[in-house]
Amino acid sequence: MDVGGTKVLALALHGDSLEPVGECRVPTPDSGDGLVESIAAAALDAAKDAGAKIGSIAAGVPGLVDDQGVMRFAANLPNVSELALRDLLHDRFDVPVAIDNDANAAAWGERVAGAGEGADHMLMVTLGTGVGGGIVLDGHLYRGAHGMAGEIGHFVVQLDGVQCSCGQRGCWEKYASGSALGRIAREAGFESGEAVVAAAGAGGAKALKVLDQFTRWVAIGMAGLANTLDPAVIVIGGGLVEAGDLLLAPMRQHFNDLIEGGEHRPEVPIRPASLGERAGAIGAALIARDFLDK
Ligand SMILES: [Zn+2]
Repeated sequence: MDVGGTKVLALALHGDSLEPVGECRVPTPDSGDGLVESIAAAALDAAKDAGAKIGSIAAGVPGLVDDQGVMRFAANLPNVSELALRDLLHDRFDVPVAIDNDANAAAWGERVAGAGEGADHMLMVTLGTGVGGGIVLDGHLYRGAHGMAGEIGHFVVQLDGVQCSCGQRGCWEKYASGSALGRIAREAGFESGEAVVAAAGAGGAKALKVLDQFTRWVAIGMAGLANTLDPAVIVIGGGLVEAGDLLLAPMRQHFNDLIEGGEHRPEVPIRPASLGERAGAIGAALIARDFLDK
């Protein structure tokens, strides 16, 4: 399952296949109790769709998730905190449950079966409601000391900048997420982020300028992370990927300009996630599979 800022996606997977045999999506509710109910309902529906029973549950969820499967804090789900999701789902279904951060899950999905396949050093950046991150180091998903590593959306790129739902100001995700594109677009007189992408696709000069400004913000964060981590590949996920080269081409250009010593190091490929919106759910399943096999 993939729990996003706006929707919960449940895929039913059987055996070793990554091809879903059942699927369900429901809106993400704005409370902890509601979230547990929605996840449970979506899981049951996906299993029903597949004509199967639930043998285990794996979910990628937003924000800070500890190694006990507790959702500690999620900037974009302000009414969900200290939610013991793993235990609650386990009590309910009496099956093994694995909970991880959504972008960690997406990163692992892309690393095992997607655009980062085989890369031992990979950075995943998801551009959605917020900006999520997953880091693969030496072939392993890097979780940090408390399971909370990779929260790349909340490093500050603009001192005293735009207010973030995490409580700080000027966080990267306020400038580089899908929601941020919407804000930048409206400031430039467009109706929405989608409207800018459409106008840019038709060659509109003003829209192309907005995308240029936006992708520069995205590239600033990615270049800083690449300076720190030296990844073999950066995989971009989230809804914005659907804009394709309209976003990726200027993003690559800015990234190459902003990374340290760009002319003196191998180019870091920036690839769109190949599992698309399923990356988080499939990645969660792959994480659970490794973990349940032990
Ligand atoms: Zn923040």
